[in-house]
Amino acid sequence: MIDHYYYGSIFTPQTNALLERIQPLIEPNLTRYVDKFYDVLLSDPGSAKFLSNELVEQRLKTSMTKWLRETTKPKTKEYVVDSMRYHQSVGEVHARAEIPMSLVDVGMTILKGEIFTTLILAKHSTQETAEAVTTLNRLLDSALSIINDSYMRGKVTNERTSQEFITASSAQEVALEIERIKSSIYQWMTSTLLAHKFSTDAFNESLFQKDFGLWIRHKLPLISADTKRAGDINAALELADQACTALAKSDTENEREQAAKLTDTLKEIIWLLTDEADRNLAKESKQDSLTTLLDRRFLSPILQQETAMALQGQNSFSVIMLDLDHFKRINDIYGHGAGDIVLRHASKTIKDKIRLTDYVFRYGGEEVLVVAPELGLEDAVKLAERIRVGIEQLHIELADQRHVKATASLGVATFNGHPDYQRLLNEADAKLYEAKRSGRNCVRY
Ligand code: GH3
Ligand code: MG
Ligand code: MG
Repeated sequence: MIDHYYYGSIFTPQTNALLERIQPLIEPNLTRYVDKFYDVLLSDPGSAKFLSNELVEQRLKTSMTKWLRETTKPKTKEYVVDSMRYHQSVGEVHARAEIPMSLVDVGMTILKGEIFTTLILAKHSTQETAEAVTTLNRLLDSALSIINDSYMRGKVTNERTSQEFITASSAQEVALEIERIKSSIYQWMTSTLLAHKFSTDAFNESLFQKDFGLWIRHKLPLISADTKRAGDINAALELADQACTALAKSDTENEREQAAKLTDTLKEIIWLLTDEADRNLAKESKQDSLTTLLDRRFLSPILQQETAMALQGQNSFSVIMLDLDHFKRINDIYGHGAGDIVLRHASKTIKDKIRLTDYVFRYGGEEVLVVAPELGLEDAVKLAERIRVGIEQLHIELADQRHVKATASLGVATFNGHPDYQRLLNEADAKLYEAKRSGRNCVRY
């Protein structure tokens, strides 16, 4: 599939010689080109959303400088293939980070403008200048077409898995979660309205920070088969939240009215949630059958949503990567069946320790990934530690009255502004490795 690209045919000996000659013109200006690129894009509010973070900017600048240097270099036949892979990976990163391709296209126009100006100002012969401009134009366009192609492929895969996640959500589990959310709303409603008779403090925290608010914001849009329904529930919560803000100000004049509005809206949300559960009760399981954790192919839509939300607001999120210690030894000593039982117990322990908003994936054989929306590093480390202790305290009984013990190592990482969630996973993985090297049964961050 790789040789159908026009890209490969560009690097003839003549073109390579030409690229060799213009290298000294381009190389010293790379940083300036990239700076110009960001100056222009950051002045556009649409793109600022993806690029405003200082850390992102620094990192993307480094990657883009590298990309431009690599792309404009002469290439041997062997190297052309590596170079295409490189462009493909750039496309994949953009797809994961959900950076719109239109932004990349605009960026390319800016870069070209800058580079061509350098070539024209170099005052070579008209023919040499024209050749340099057309060659670079061809080169950059075909590199961009490879990026575009792999971007589109990545996009299609993303959409497909996100669709599957919705249609495959286990109805029982969704219904159970919805019951818990409903009762949490009821509890809050009754206790708060009662407390409000004595003080206005009850309304100080945003509803979106409550467990039910977090769930409605983060999880509902992903499990609801009906996007409009999820949107309606979020909008209703927004209304309820506004009523709370009004009540917190204790404007006695319309207090009664606001309280009635709050109760009505919350009841409406409860009704909508009940209906959502009913509709879901005809679906299949999306879970791994051994551990009942989420299948890792659903990671992408979830991490993309969390990354997008974190980039838009101030709230970050964390991931915890866990790997059971010396699991091969458990299999060797007690048999594979016992290994499976340990895995099942460990998974249940993890699910018992997390919040309702969190996700647990079976990441590999005995590797688990927790995604925790709106959880900062400090709290994520505490959660990881609770999981570690929970697993350490397990006394797992086997059929023949023998017992097994297990421990786990955990690595924690918090969103740091990079739009590609793969970076975050790599970081958590590196921390997990560190935990293994520090003797296992510990948390590193
Ligand atoms: P470490 O502490 O370094 O993680 O040691 P380890 O022995 O756990 O090593 P590693 O994580 O590399 O290997 C995991 C082993 O777990 C490999 C495989 O035999 C076993 N395993 C993976 N999936 C399953 C499973 O579903 N059931 C059982 N019983 N064993 C599994
Ligand atoms: Mg292991
Ligand atoms: Mg492992």
